[in-house]
Amino acid sequence: MGFKILRSGITRRWVINIFTIVFVTICVLIVGGSLAVRGYYISSARQALINKAESDGAYFENLYAKETDLIESVRTYVENYAQKEKIELMVANSVGRVTLTSSGFASDTDYPEDVMAALASDTASFVGSNSYGENVIAVSRSVKAGDKVACVLRYVISMRGIQGRVLSVILMLSGFGILLLLACYFSGRYFVKSIINPLSTITETTKKIAQNDFSVRIDDKYRDEIGDLAHEINNMAAALGASEAMKNDFTSSISHELLTPLTAIRGWSETLSDPNMRSDDMIEKGMKVISAESARLSAMVSELLDFSRLQNGNMTLNMTKLDVVAELEETVLMFEERAKKNNISLILTAPETCSPVFGDAARVKQVFVNIIDNAIKYSQPDGGRIEINLFEKKDRVCIIIADNGIGISSEDLPKIKQKFFKGASSRPGSGIGLAIVTDIVNLHGGEFEIDSVPGNGTTVMVTFPIMQTALQDGE
Ligand code: ADP
Repeated sequence: MGFKILRSGITRRWVINIFTIVFVTICVLIVGGSLAVRGYYISSARQALINKAESDGAYFENLYAKETDLIESVRTYVENYAQKEKIELMVANSVGRVTLTSSGFASDTDYPEDVMAALASDTASFVGSNSYGENVIAVSRSVKAGDKVACVLRYVISMRGIQGRVLSVILMLSGFGILLLLACYFSGRYFVKSIINPLSTITETTKKIAQNDFSVRIDDKYRDEIGDLAHEINNMAAALGASEAMKNDFTSSISHELLTPLTAIRGWSETLSDPNMRSDDMIEKGMKVISAESARLSAMVSELLDFSRLQNGNMTLNMTKLDVVAELEETVLMFEERAKKNNISLILTAPETCSPVFGDAARVKQVFVNIIDNAIKYSQPDGGRIEINLFEKKDRVCIIIADNGIGISSEDLPKIKQKFFKGASSRPGSGIGLAIVTDIVNLHGGEFEIDSVPGNGTTVMVTFPIMQTALQDGE
């Protein structure tokens, strides 16, 4: 059941990392721990034997001093040795040969190496295996009768007890290690699951987003980094959805925009192809409509082309020394008739001339066209007033276009420069006019700001930097 999770990459990596570390640590602990315990028990057992040998040795040397038969006393002591179950006591003669044992059995060796060493230097010990292959600790102490060595007392214990203790330490540490590994496995499994489960939900959701389903959202229940990721993905899906909706809206509105003049052109061309309808008056009227609508069509198509060039960064600007006043006057003139028709007064206040701006005349004019076109389009239905002001401020030429039209809601205002965005109260249009304005003004190093009070009107400000004198002189 639970091992299915081990197949996932994160879990495998985690298991390899953590298990290796924990496993190596436990092995080191077991080896180090058992060596330390073994060493401790051996040295304390050896010390206990040394203490015993010292006190017994001193006792017998004392007896000798009191002129008692030393060898006989030793023999009696060994034969009645009280601790013989635990410790084997041996006696070796003055050349190191074992002559007596408390067990009654012969010694494993006639001349043990610790006895030989004790003959030379009072006390000596031995830790290792005896000739029967049994691990033992042995301590020998020579007992002196005056200047000479009378005998050597040898105490031997088996290390079986110590080995048993070391084994139980190894078992205890191994048990602890297994428990630790299990704890690591289960806690890690829980931890990894808490990452993998949300990750698979996120993967499923992003797959759907990739398949253009922008309505999907990840449950907002994780309060950690995964929650942040989920939140960002939800935001992304919402933004993609909004942009998709805007694009769809753009396609339908642009089709509609293109269809309207085409319908007029088609209608008039059909009318004029009917000989019964073809009067001079009709021809003149029809041709006027056809010409105006084709001009509108080509303006729309070139706006679309400009937009796509700006988006791709392929827009080439024909930069020259510009008289912005002249460009603005020409644009206002273009709109005069349309404004009059809509009962809108178009008032331009500008000096006769102003400092030159380094720019592309056609693009700068396009900026004015798009803004004034909006100002007319979004004027109140019963007419209005559009005031256009051009003036110089510091190193900039500023143009302010203020209408008293329907205005823009504060909700829409931050979005209106986005491509394809059309406000709630939008009139026929593509939604790219202000995006084009933004790009062109930026390409000229200028600024473009828009402010509006719903119901009261909109004020747009565009500034262009004045051409530097050095450049002007160079021309
Ligand atoms: P559109 O083709 O829709 O006019 P624009 O990019 O030119 O596209 O404008 C974006 C939106 O900004 C419009 O849909 C409209 O809601 C709003 N807008 C722009 N200019 C004005 C204005 N002068 N008055 C009111 N609303 C405006």
